[in-house]
Formats: sequence, structure tokens, C-alpha cells
Amino acid sequence: MDFSLTEEQRVGVDGWSRFVQKHIKPITDQHRDALIPAPVLKRLLGMTAAYGVGCGWVPEDGGGLGLDFLTSGLLYEELSRVSADLAGAAFVNEGAALKVYNAGSPAIRERYLAPTLRGELIGCSAISEPNAGSNVRAMRTRAVRDGDRFRITGEKMWISNSSVADYVTLVAATGEQEFTMFLVDRQEHGFETREAEKLGLNGWSLGQVILQDVIVPAENVMGGVGQGLRETMKGFERSRCFISLLGLGMAKASLDASIDYAKQRESFGKPIAGHQLIQQLIAEMATELEAARLMVYRALSILNSGTRSNIEAAMAKAFATEAAVRIASKAIEVHGAFGISREFPVERNFRSTRMLTIPDGTTQINNLIIGRILLGTDAFA
Ligand SMILES: Cc1cc2nc3c(=O)[nH]c(=O)nc-3n(C[C@H](O)[C@H](O)[C@H](O)COP(=O)(O)OP(=O)(O)OC[C@H]3O[C@@H](n4cnc5c(N)ncnc54)[C@H](O)[C@@H]3O)c2cc1C
Repeated sequence: MDFSLTEEQRVGVDGWSRFVQKHIKPITDQHRDALIPAPVLKRLLGMTAAYGVGCGWVPEDGGGLGLDFLTSGLLYEELSRVSADLAGAAFVNEGAALKVYNAGSPAIRERYLAPTLRGELIGCSAISEPNAGSNVRAMRTRAVRDGDRFRITGEKMWISNSSVADYVTLVAATGEQEFTMFLVDRQEHGFETREAEKLGLNGWSLGQVILQDVIVPAENVMGGVGQGLRETMKGFERSRCFISLLGLGMAKASLDASIDYAKQRESFGKPIAGHQLIQQLIAEMATELEAARLMVYRALSILNSGTRSNIEAAMAKAFATEAAVRIASKAIEVHGAFGISREFPVERNFRSTRMLTIPDGTTQINNLIIGRILLGTDAFA
């Protein structure tokens, strides 16, 4: 079992880290707790593309860099230390590009793939609805066939990238328990979006996608009629790892800030770093981060090998995102009252990490997946 990174990975992450600090951070720092507007996001995605962030997963024959998932994950983790908002927006866009590559018709690929990989177009993926989250089969959005087109009506909710998106890959019911994915273009077919006010990750769009009798040609079906959930499920193991990477990055930022603060802040005549209980907090944060990181890297490595990482990705997601919340909370403890001040990054990380236990299967849903595999009994049924 080899736990070390390759020389190429180490050099790549170092160069990327310097680039992020010098060129990305000054821009994302201006949008710390407010939505990164679409033109700024497109500029940023254009910058990150050179390193494979936002375009790494798509193979070279599709115009991407064809990065393996672990190498890509290292880049996302590093970016999340500085801006989990941008990392989130980039990986959702990259996911949309991969769907276009894997499931789009030649015409769809021709039109959307290259601009998405360059960050000129932004995509999002819409499955959840106000009354259908964990249970996606309860969705009410309907697509009704009308000759060589479909008419789609419904409302999607909690959709990442929605208000900055040029297009959405959306799953709708096309029959009784039959689900189909469509690519819907904001300008050409028309959908409305509404941004949600939320706890954290406020630079990253999250909101509603509303479709009122939107007419979409049949060639915009992605992966075939009735294949919508299959196309969606394929991406879950990957997205569970990548949402966890946002948590790892923010947890590292919280830990680093706590170590710096503990060395500077004095109480009872010495730096608080010298108090044993502060050392315990720091030690617990570092240990949990390391355990979470190993689980996520392992799930990514299994994904790279082309085998299913169902249980590993579910375990990594459930553990890493909950660990990130605990680490962010302890970072606030180390900072005392300054920890809850908006002036300090640990406050924002606390709010933002708290968001991560929900998407791509809540902690409970991931535990049920683990339970189903271990026990052979489906608690969803
Ligand atoms: C930051 C963020 C980004 C997101 N991005 C997207 C996106 O891009 N696209 C998209 O389609 N959706 C997205 N979502 C939505 C997300 O997928 C859903 O919120 C999630 O699936 C949970 O659904 P829900 O919120 O409706 O909760 P519910 O399903 O209503 O669950 C409520 C509670 O009940 C628990 N629960 C539900 N069923 C069971 C069960 N069978 N057994 C035990 N407990 C259960 C849940 O764990 C949770 O604690 C995002 C959400 C967040 C927070």
C-alpha cells in the first residue's frame, strides 16, 4: 500500500497552490460571502482550466485533460483551502461537461462541450425538488412527448450553479417511474432561476430552476429516454468524493488558522498553544482531518481503477463531511470569541462546512447505503 504522492502530483499541486494564492485568491477574496457573479466566475474558470480544474475529468479526445480522479481531487482540495465556493462551482461545471461528453448527442457535444471546458458556458445538474430530495423517484417535474420534442414543466430546488448557469442537465419523469435526462438551455428554451438565501458557501450559487411548459427538442435527451437516473447514479460516487474534498480543504484552512492563532494568542501569561487542552483540540482536529483525507483518497483511487467505490465513497462522504464540521467547530473553540467574528475565516468555514453533510446523499442516506451493502437488506424499500 503506497500512501505517497507521485513526483508529478507533488509538483503539480505545488505549482497550482502558488497560482491559486497569486491569481485566484485576490479575486475570490472580493466575493467571500456574496455570490460570485457569472462573468467573474467564467473568468475564474477560464484561469483554472489550464490546470485541469473544471475540465480535468473529460478525456483528451473530448478536449479535456483526462486527469485521474485522485490528481484532480488534490487540486480541488487545495483550491478549497482558499475558495470552496469556486471549487464547488468548478466541480459542478466539470460534472455537467462530463455528462455532455458521455451522454450528449453529437450535436449537443459539438455545441456545449468545448465552451464548458473553457469556462465560457456554465452548466448545472438538477434532480432535487421541493418535495423530492433523498427520494428522487418522488420527483414531480414532467416531460411530455409532443412529436419530436418534449414539453417540460416543474420546479427543481437546491441546484448548485443554477443562477449562473447557461444550461441545466435536468431529470424529469417521462412515464410511470421512468426518468429521462434533458439538456435545457436558458436562452434557447427558457427557464427561470431564483437564488436561495443560505447559511454558507455564499459565493457559490444554489437555488431554484423553474420550468413552465418549456419546449425542448428530442435530440436534447441525454443518454436515452428512461436512462435519467442511471446517468445520475453513475456520477454519485465521484460527486460524494468531490463534495468531501471541499470539506477537507476548509478543514485544513481551519486547522492552519487555529495553529497560527494558538501560537499568537496569550492567556495566563503564555501562548494558548502551551495549554494542554488547546493541544488536545489541535491534535483531534489534525487526526480527524488525516483520517478523512485517507478515506477520500482511497475512494478516489478505487474510482481511478474503474471499479465501483460504492461503499468507500459513501463512508468517505459520511465521515469526511461530518469530520469537517467538527474540525470547523473546534477551530472556533481555539479562537474563543474571535472565532465567531466575521473578521476571522473560521466563522465562515464553520457555516460552509455545515452545508456539506446534505448534498450527494445526506449522512443518513450514505449510512443506509453502507448498511445495505453490509447487511444485504434495503432500508429504503
Ligand atoms: C450545498 C448543496 C448543494 C446541492 N446541490 C444540488 C444539485 O446541484 N443538484 C440537485 O439536484 N440537488 C442538490 N442539492 C440537494 C440535495 O441533493 C438534497 O438536499 C438532498 O438529497 C437531501 O434532500 P432534502 O433536502 O429534500 O432532504 P430530505 O430528503 O427531505 O431529508 C430530510 C431528513 O430526513 C432524512 N431522511 C430522508 N429519508 C430517509 C430515510 N429513508 N431514512 C433515514 N433518514 C432519512 C435525511 O437524511 C434528512 O436528515 C444540494 C443541496 C445542498 C445543501
